[in-house]
Amino acid sequence: MTAEIPTIGHWIDGAGVESGSGKSSPVFNPATGEQVASLGLADQAEIDRAVASAQAGFQVWSKLSIAKRLSVLFNFRELLNARKGELAEIVTREHGKVLSDALGEIARGQEVVELACGFPSLLKGDFSQNASTGVDVHSFRQPLGVVGIISPFNFPVMVPAWFFPVAIAAGNSVIVKPSEKDPSASLWIAKLWQEAGLPDGVFTVLNGDKLAVDGLLNAPEVQSISFVGSTPIAQYIYETAAKNGKRVQALGGAKNHMLVLPDADLDLVADNAINAGYGAAGERCMAVSVVLAVEAPRTDGGQGTSADALIEKITERIGNLKVGNGAGLPAGGEPDMGPLISAQHKEKVSGFVDVAEADGAKIVVDGRTFAVEGHEDGFFFGPTLIDAIPTTSKAYTEEIFGPVLEVVRVSSFQEGVDLINSGRFGNGTAIFTNDGGAARRFTDEIQVGMIGINVPIPVPVGYHSFGGWKQSLFGDSKAYGAKSFDFFTREKAVTTRWVDPAKHGGINLGFPITD
Ligand code: NAD
Repeated sequence: MTAEIPTIGHWIDGAGVESGSGKSSPVFNPATGEQVASLGLADQAEIDRAVASAQAGFQVWSKLSIAKRLSVLFNFRELLNARKGELAEIVTREHGKVLSDALGEIARGQEVVELACGFPSLLKGDFSQNASTGVDVHSFRQPLGVVGIISPFNFPVMVPAWFFPVAIAAGNSVIVKPSEKDPSASLWIAKLWQEAGLPDGVFTVLNGDKLAVDGLLNAPEVQSISFVGSTPIAQYIYETAAKNGKRVQALGGAKNHMLVLPDADLDLVADNAINAGYGAAGERCMAVSVVLAVEAPRTDGGQGTSADALIEKITERIGNLKVGNGAGLPAGGEPDMGPLISAQHKEKVSGFVDVAEADGAKIVVDGRTFAVEGHEDGFFFGPTLIDAIPTTSKAYTEEIFGPVLEVVRVSSFQEGVDLINSGRFGNGTAIFTNDGGAARRFTDEIQVGMIGINVPIPVPVGYHSFGGWKQSLFGDSKAYGAKSFDFFTREKAVTTRWVDPAKHGGINLGFPITD
């Protein structure tokens, strides 16, 4: 007898709601390949219900005092901190990443909760006394209303948390549309908000596919859209939301390069290339997927150039990586890397390695036939290293989003910079060197939004902002940081004169000027 597969619905009006649409999508444990749940996909009636509830929630929440909203945020922060282990297990079960990495993404999301706890200072208005004679001006910000957050599969906690703490702190109500592949984390977070004292309707989870996304894009009540996902969808979201008069920020895909100058410590570089290339099985928008090695004569006595030496070091380290179920190895302990998200994605990643090979690249370490004993149905793909990838190959120009590290050899710093700048993405990049002047020039000339100097995954901390350039971000608003309060609020400026009857100026049809 097969066990019944649980169903997952929505969170609307402070309660779990089963979907009645009759449409569903399977949720898998990527490590075992088993279906762990069936996700109900919203129909139009469910979208309307979610939006109506969020509207009602906004009316309550936006009217509460700063002090009352602040206490809910602090409660949420404390509860999340105390119970993050439960959330990490959910992430690992549906996403596949190892538990410590799941805790890592929760910690980065928590940074934004902590930023949002400072909202009373960040949302203070401005006041100018006597701007004109007897006239004062003050400005202040008000929440937008219902805001939509649409997230990808790869960070089911951190990415929604880039937005919802700020949006909620500012007085909005949010509707989160999680990825169909790992929806449970958002539902868990919804319950935690309720426990923290957030009024019903302020945090809604609407599960669904394109229909749910389009429902949010088309609902007049939804004032803004914060999207993170692949570039083609980000562009679609940006254009559609803008056409519908909404405020929109849409973060897209990436192809991040690590430029290695000949003076860098190659052991440090090899360790960092492994961490940034294979962590979370390469399913990070800030993963390093290309190592750009500036070639120089080898100094360790081996054959070839410094790039050959680096490839040897990376290959050696790949041999020591443990790949397995992110929830733990049969022998105990945690693997370094888990599976990919789905069987389809595994096929896609494999296809890119085929393309690289057909285009003449050298497959130094091949993960295509990799399997984990006892988890033969899991979506595992072995760490893969590709040398001499032609920069015309689709395997170089496209985002692979898997544990595939490509090496491109260049002859100079400038050739490396030019190659990075010729790409259509501009999310993250890193330079490894001991030359401060070169690093400074790199930060000046590179057309990328987030830069690491001897830091391979330069995800800015919560009080800075996250966002790329070019096709990695549509719109001009980044995620989190103090400036993100602007995205989730509208400003009003009030010009005030309390008329002194003795100084009443009479009628004047001229345009008001200061005096
Ligand atoms: P995706 O674009 O397939 O899906 C993202 C969201 O869009 C999901 O909620 C999905 O349901 C929805 N969606 C998918 N197709 C749609 C369509 N046709 N119309 C409307 N909505 C649609 O992305 P993914 O595979 O879940 O995530 C991986 C991608 O996200 C990678 O490209 C990665 O680089 C990117 N990403 C970017 C960042 C960043 O900060 N720039 C961060 C994380 C992930």
